[in-house]
Amino acid sequence: MYNNKISIIGTGYVGLVGGVCLAEFGNNIINVDIDEDKIAMLNRGEIPIYEPGLKDVYERNLADGRIRFTTDIESAIKESEVVFISVGTPPAEDGSADLQFVLDVASSIGKYMDDYKVVVDKSTVPIGTGRKVAAVIEEELAKRGKEYEFDVVSNPEFLREGKAVQDFTHPDRVVIGTESEKARQILRDVYRALYINNTPFVFTNLETAEMIKYASNAFLATKISFINELSALCEAVNANVQTVAEAMGMDGRISSKFLHAGPGYGGSCFPKDTSAIARIAEGKGVELKVISAGIAANEAQKLRMVDKIEGRLGDLKGKKIGILGLSFKPETDDMRESPALTIIPELIKAGALISAYDPQGIEEAVWRLKDYEKDITYCNNEYEVMKKSDALVLITEWNQFRRLDLSKVKELLKQPIFFDLRNVYEKEELERYGLEYIGVGVPASR
Ligand code: NAD
Repeated sequence: MYNNKISIIGTGYVGLVGGVCLAEFGNNIINVDIDEDKIAMLNRGEIPIYEPGLKDVYERNLADGRIRFTTDIESAIKESEVVFISVGTPPAEDGSADLQFVLDVASSIGKYMDDYKVVVDKSTVPIGTGRKVAAVIEEELAKRGKEYEFDVVSNPEFLREGKAVQDFTHPDRVVIGTESEKARQILRDVYRALYINNTPFVFTNLETAEMIKYASNAFLATKISFINELSALCEAVNANVQTVAEAMGMDGRISSKFLHAGPGYGGSCFPKDTSAIARIAEGKGVELKVISAGIAANEAQKLRMVDKIEGRLGDLKGKKIGILGLSFKPETDDMRESPALTIIPELIKAGALISAYDPQGIEEAVWRLKDYEKDITYCNNEYEVMKKSDALVLITEWNQFRRLDLSKVKELLKQPIFFDLRNVYEKEELERYGLEYIGVGVPASR
């Protein structure tokens, strides 16, 4: 068991989930953030994000004294032997990853460390960042005239929002990239609960670990783009993409996961990580044709959804469109790069009026779609959205949208047209209730 304190710098989706789960594994955690409101909330017993199952683990470990929350990065670094970096790495304007937050933390570590540290990078960062982090720490130490020993480790995170606690506590693998045997041993102890439980561990060097994360996300994103492109062809040739994907997925070499046609991928990871790896490759003079095509296909898929709606409804001027789901996927309040952020503005630009509902995403949608606020009405529930709407568009497949009262839907809509952009309903089922069905890559009502 690892008995020293661990600090986790950055208490967002990854840092907070990582913090409470590492505490659950028996470690002593200090979660740090520069966002004072976030830390104040966590110290009041409130969780700043929506993530199923997180509250229980958080409350249990807080009560047991295995985790605390602070904005005091200096004390946290001094008190811990292991310092995780889990700050954001948002896309810069050119699509590369913005490393400003990661390097800020590295410089704080160099400023405040006063003995050996293992610096673990959990943020998703371009290949070579681990060495940059080490260089920044060295620089700060040199300014202070100090020579403390430290190791840098790359330990990318693979959790999915909405299933983050389950993913962190039951990962498919843990990747540890470092050349230091000492750091490797410490990380093995930090993750002892998983190590003794036969979770596969991949020990490798820094660069390979950094590459594994980008390669994994780029592959999954490309897989989604692959089936989304096929959905357009399926529509053109009267094939059913759902059945195609299902049958493809029965082949163990392919697997059915990430093979669901929809309105395009979004979220805080796939869009930014695919463009970051493309920029990295560009910088090295290597062409990533497949990944670049996947990115372009994703943009096209989002716009194709708008064409679909316009194609059926005709001129959208003054038409009222009800939207179900704003977050980029169910079970999260995260709106980053959500397809809704492309589809809604495009519909509004074409003259439509939007009424929208999301169980968790509205607060974020309000500021992200601020430029379009005069044409959007946020509703209190799914049925309010439908009232007098010319069509209903399901963008995010929250469970409550999978079990709609279809006779009520028919009754409330002005025109009974249902765009099911997640293929959660069947054509025959909707038609039984007098609704016209239009899915993605599946035969439509007409
Ligand atoms: P986030 O934006 O939710 O959280 C980042 C946190 O870091 C914020 O609370 C911010 O206030 C804090 N922060 C920024 N600078 C700081 C500093 N100098 N000191 C202390 N705190 C600071 O981000 P996230 O979604 O948790 O992602 C973090 C990293 O993990 C990213 O690199 C992301 O790509 C990666 N990742 C995310 C996911 C995911 O599903 N969200 C999954 C795997 C990996």
